[in-house]
Amino acid sequence: MWHDSVLGTVGNTPLVRINRLAEEVPCTVLAKVEFFNPGGSVKDRIGISMVEDAEEKGLIEPGGTIIEGTSGNTGAGLAIAAIAKGYRCIFTTTDKQSQEKVDVLRALGAEVLVCPTNVEPDDPRSYYSTARRLAEEIPNSIYLNQYDNDSNTQAHIETTGPELWEQTEGKITHFIAGAGTGGTISGTGRYLKEQNEDVTVVGVDPYGSVFYKYFHEGVFDHDEIYPYVTEGVGEDILPENMDFDVVDDFVRVDDKTTMQMTRRLAREEGLFIGQSCGMAMAGALQWLHDHKATLTEDDVVVVLLPDSGFRYLSKTYNDEWMRSHGFMENRTNVTVEHVLKRRPASEAVIAASPEDTLGSVIERMTEKGISQMPVLNEENEVVGSITETQILNELIASPDARDEAVENVMGDPLPVVPTSLHLEHLSSYLESGAGAVLVETNASDGAYSVITKSDLIGALAHANGNGAS
Ligand code: PMP
Repeated sequence: MWHDSVLGTVGNTPLVRINRLAEEVPCTVLAKVEFFNPGGSVKDRIGISMVEDAEEKGLIEPGGTIIEGTSGNTGAGLAIAAIAKGYRCIFTTTDKQSQEKVDVLRALGAEVLVCPTNVEPDDPRSYYSTARRLAEEIPNSIYLNQYDNDSNTQAHIETTGPELWEQTEGKITHFIAGAGTGGTISGTGRYLKEQNEDVTVVGVDPYGSVFYKYFHEGVFDHDEIYPYVTEGVGEDILPENMDFDVVDDFVRVDDKTTMQMTRRLAREEGLFIGQSCGMAMAGALQWLHDHKATLTEDDVVVVLLPDSGFRYLSKTYNDEWMRSHGFMENRTNVTVEHVLKRRPASEAVIAASPEDTLGSVIERMTEKGISQMPVLNEENEVVGSITETQILNELIASPDARDEAVENVMGDPLPVVPTSLHLEHLSSYLESGAGAVLVETNASDGAYSVITKSDLIGALAHANGNGAS
């Protein structure tokens, strides 16, 4: 069995259960994994349908030129369809899209014009206007306009919706997806609701896009439009393909949450997916969490994951890029408590009393392999500290130092810090003289733990790039 062209491999993408990330919710959460399409995204589906629709309507003739404004994925879908059917492609995109996407389009033989992101949609420089102008200038060309072209939504009514219905044997109860043109959520949502009107459809919007407010308040608010980093979702226009009647609720997600969830899907579920997938999943988990009381184990939630991680290697999957945008899990979220958790169950702190002799302290330090001790009095109050260096200085100064009492030699008490202290602040304590700090782990019975520089190094090395653990 074979396909006549690569177009035959579009669609019928798998549903994969989300395991770790969905542990907290009572229902089944499934991902519709669209990177299995040959062009690497959900947009292959509309590539075919928009081109075939134009052919059927006689809007394009053999050898003609397909023009489209695309964040990259629609371009790949169209380029594949154009290769199979013999058309030339010119795409306009914005300078916000990752280089990988532009490279894919060029690899598939398309010409690409990169336009500025932060201009008004009707500005002649915008990627919408540029696409329109090219279509007027180039003979036998068509501007497909995925935003307002009905065959976009239609592709999902004919493919994505029926696939989900069949794959879940009609058990799907919720469909959650991001929206760019709105084709995916509107078409899939409409089909599913036609099968079962009780299916709940939830849209996920990035902060900076207009959909969320328009859905909740019916207002197209220019002040809501501001730059965000997540690619392919959210809009500064209301596309005709965005059918708000199909949507039951809209949530929104910020860029940082999106990027971190994108990475977690890769690391914790093995799904190497793109940014808008992280956004959809973060929005979905947020919505499911907020509606936990209404969910049962019979609920089957499908979250659509539009594209592949390969398109974001230089961005979300690059530590430097993540750091420069402030998207990395902030070290300051890691607290002293995290350091303590990395240790075996805490035993009583090894402390000296003011009356102990230096000789007994040396023995205990050697036996336990430690280089400093807090000094606690009978009431368990911290009254001082004793370090290897102080003992060494005493031994050099006096041969009888072994019999000296700790209270005559000890230094200032180690600082006592709370378990909630962020590691950034902890390191400043350790750098400013004290080689260690005390943490009051049980205030009622005066139990303490000691944290040293090597504990801090261990905790930070562990937290590096992985977030708090
Ligand atoms: N995610 C990505 C990465 C996309 O490129 C797009 C399409 N712009 C979407 C999600 C949204 O899909 P739709 O246009 O069907 O709403």
